[in-house]
This record gives sequence, C-alpha cells and structure tokens, in this order.
Amino acid sequence: MEKVEFKIGGCLLEIIRGDITKQDTDAIVNAANKQLAPGGGVAGAIHRAAGPELWEECKQLGGCETGEAKITSGYNLAARYVIHTVGPVYNNTPQNAVDLENCYLNSLDLAVRHGLKSVSFPAISTGIFGYPLEEAAGVSLRSVIKFLKERNKPELVRFVLFGEKDLNVFKKTLQEIMKSSQ
Ligand code: ADP
Repeated sequence: MEKVEFKIGGCLLEIIRGDITKQDTDAIVNAANKQLAPGGGVAGAIHRAAGPELWEECKQLGGCETGEAKITSGYNLAARYVIHTVGPVYNNTPQNAVDLENCYLNSLDLAVRHGLKSVSFPAISTGIFGYPLEEAAGVSLRSVIKFLKERNKPELVRFVLFGEKDLNVFKKTLQEIMKSSQ
C-alpha cells in the first residue's frame, strides 16, 4: 500500500510515496536553506522543475530564518505556489523539535492566509540536515495534526516521501499517533 489517509475534522491528511515536484496541490513546501538558494536535495529538485525564475524571485526575499516560511510563485510546477521553510540542522538539542514544528505551523499558516486549500510537504530536515527519520516523523505529523485540529484548514495536507523506508516510517508513526489519541 503506497498511500494512507486520515480524516482530521473536515481535513484530510495523506501520506504517499512520490516526487514532491510532481504534486498538483495548491502549494508544495520546499525544505530550503537560509539563502533560499537552489542547492541539493529536494530544494535543488524543486528549483530545477520550477525553472530559473524561482531563484530570481527567491533572491528578492532576503533569506529566511530557521523555522520561518516564505511564499513564492510555482512557475513551471503544477503547484501554483512554493512555500519555502528552513528546517533545523540537527544537533540533538530540544530546540530542534521546536524549530521543526515551527516549519510546519508557519508554512500552513502562510498557506491558509493565502486561501490555499491543499499543501504537500517533504520530510523537512531528514536529508542533508540530518534529523533522525523516526524522530522527525513524530514531530512533523504531530505539528500538522495540531494545526488541522485548531484551524480546520487547509482541506488537504499531503506528506510526499521519496523513499520506501521514509514512507513506512511515516505511515507507522501516523498509525501510532492516531491509535493513541482515540
Ligand atoms: P534538508 O536539508 O531539510 O534535510 P533534503 O533536501 O536534504 O533537506 O532532504 C529532505 C527530504 O526530502 C529527504 O527525506 C529527501 O530524501 C527528500 N527528497 C529529496 N528529493 C525529493 C523529491 N523530489 N520529492 C520528495 N522528497 C524528496
């Protein structure tokens, strides 16, 4: 099974395996660096798929702090917008979870303030930034669930996991969270 979904109030939380650059949600979220520069990993893939105009717009934004989020157009992407958020570089301190939670909350807040109905997220910080996957999955899912319970928006939040292992960790973690909250 490549997909799981849960209803949270009037919203849908989906977990799928796939490529975030291909998602047709209103926005996709970029796991960006503080310069909002193309770089490697998911950011490099998003900039390549969106085209050079994305970097031109990002240059005007004056960077982004850890845990914060900024929005741009999606250019050649199927998604109309890209929300750029800077995850923590993992160093095993309590601040890491605070920063990672803020990435999700601030990205979703920006999406809702722009009237967007659907948003796709990658597993922020779990690549080059070194956040252990199991730990990041728990923080990420709890943050999104908290936002959806409080705000009942957006209609759809989709986690797009690149690898099979990442997908399985997110699926298992979501099932555990939903079971323990019933
Ligand atoms: P960070 O610097 O925040 O750790 P990375 O880009 O290194 O960001 O990785 C974040 C996650 O995004 C990793 O799990 C990586 O496997 C995943 N990833 C890389 N490319 C894609 C893609 N095209 N679609 C979805 N996820 C991707």
